[in-house]
Amino acid sequence: MDAETIRELDRRHLWHPYAPAAPATPAHPVAGAEGVRLRLSDGREVIDGMSSWWAAIHGHNHPRLNAAVRDQVGTMAHVMFGGLTHEPAVRVARRLAAMTGMERVFLADSGSVAVEVAIKMAVQATGRSRLLTVRGGYHGDTFGAMAVCDPVNGMHHMFTGVLPRHVFADRPPGGYGRPLGSSGQSPDEGAGGGAWPVDEAYLRHLDELVARHAGELAAVIVEPVVQGAGGMRFYHPAYLRRLRELADAHGLLLIADEIATGFGRTGELFGCDHAGVTPDIMCVGKALTGGYLTMAATLCTAEVAERVGVLMHGPTFMGNPLAAAVADASLTLLGERPWRHEVGRIEDGLAEGLAEAARAPGVKDVRVLGAIGVIETRAPVDVAKVQDIVMEHGVWLRPFGHLIYTMPPYGTLPDDLARITQAMLAAAHALPA
Ligand SMILES: *Cc1c(COP(=O)(O)O)cnc(C)c1O
Repeated sequence: MDAETIRELDRRHLWHPYAPAAPATPAHPVAGAEGVRLRLSDGREVIDGMSSWWAAIHGHNHPRLNAAVRDQVGTMAHVMFGGLTHEPAVRVARRLAAMTGMERVFLADSGSVAVEVAIKMAVQATGRSRLLTVRGGYHGDTFGAMAVCDPVNGMHHMFTGVLPRHVFADRPPGGYGRPLGSSGQSPDEGAGGGAWPVDEAYLRHLDELVARHAGELAAVIVEPVVQGAGGMRFYHPAYLRRLRELADAHGLLLIADEIATGFGRTGELFGCDHAGVTPDIMCVGKALTGGYLTMAATLCTAEVAERVGVLMHGPTFMGNPLAAAVADASLTLLGERPWRHEVGRIEDGLAEGLAEAARAPGVKDVRVLGAIGVIETRAPVDVAKVQDIVMEHGVWLRPFGHLIYTMPPYGTLPDDLARITQAMLAAAHALPA
């Protein structure tokens, strides 16, 4: 099919994420993907600065991941998981348990479903039904998950009467990550000796809110340290530590949604590692299969599993062998690659390459944590215009709201990273003041 036919049929029949039926700017047809690059149907090549939404941490068309899918498809593509089991599922479960210290693994078919399952676990384990979360969060698009997304960003007003009403703490104060010198986010060198400050008033706010609602709460659910699609904000691990302490003090469960933060993206294996806390329930997804197939997981401790009893969930494609096999291969690959070094090198490159953006009049903040680089703008981003600019630089990004951001594959080399940051700088300097 030629690119024009694809574009035409796409416009006629498909929905795209968070888009009207026939959006003003059509989607770009992609013909192939290799390493850190996407090959567009018109022949252009662009660096996948988004890792295809946090997922393709090893890059595209990876021989080891290809082989895992190919070997598995020749053996067994899928069997039901009710009453049956198989090697790919137990392999990935054993590996996840070893990586996280959580005993029990529920294999779900997407991140949102993993969050639904986490909520069910918490409700079944405690007999209570409300959750506490923080504003500015994002946990997925299904109804249970949407109910704990930021009420404003998450468009709760469009679904009033459908969504359960949970308890929302204020957005955690920003201020964590790689210091960027005089431009962009940096701790106050004078006061804190270079350490990010902790807002004591915010800790008290958490104390009061949890104490007030403890009797009706099943769990606290948060994205550890990085709030992703809710605004790409980094917050101090002290707030996560306090939530862990409060959950313990009041008999609540702590659910860590590590779907974006998991598997090294923030510079630690999991977001919770920044705070040195372990959750009772944990969701992983996105990078789990290295971006190959849709699979996520909800993990919990042995104690939670015992309190849950019969868990009332069971998707048709639960434990899909193809997805499980490629997840196991992706986690093996992660264990072999020097991801800490690679993410650290990307963090250095992003900090160096993006710091200057803070001088652009249209830029409000620049921040970097691990292999995540964010330019927050003063006005909402003209997505089509920014995309034109970065694509001229040979880079694919998908800005939203007030954000131009990147989370490239871990193997992104310095030259390609420099192209990404140069593209972002060009976009920042073209913003209206
Ligand atoms: C992407 C995301 C989800 C939802 O995952 P899907 O696979 O898109 O359903 C949930 N929580 C967080 C933190 C995410 O980043």
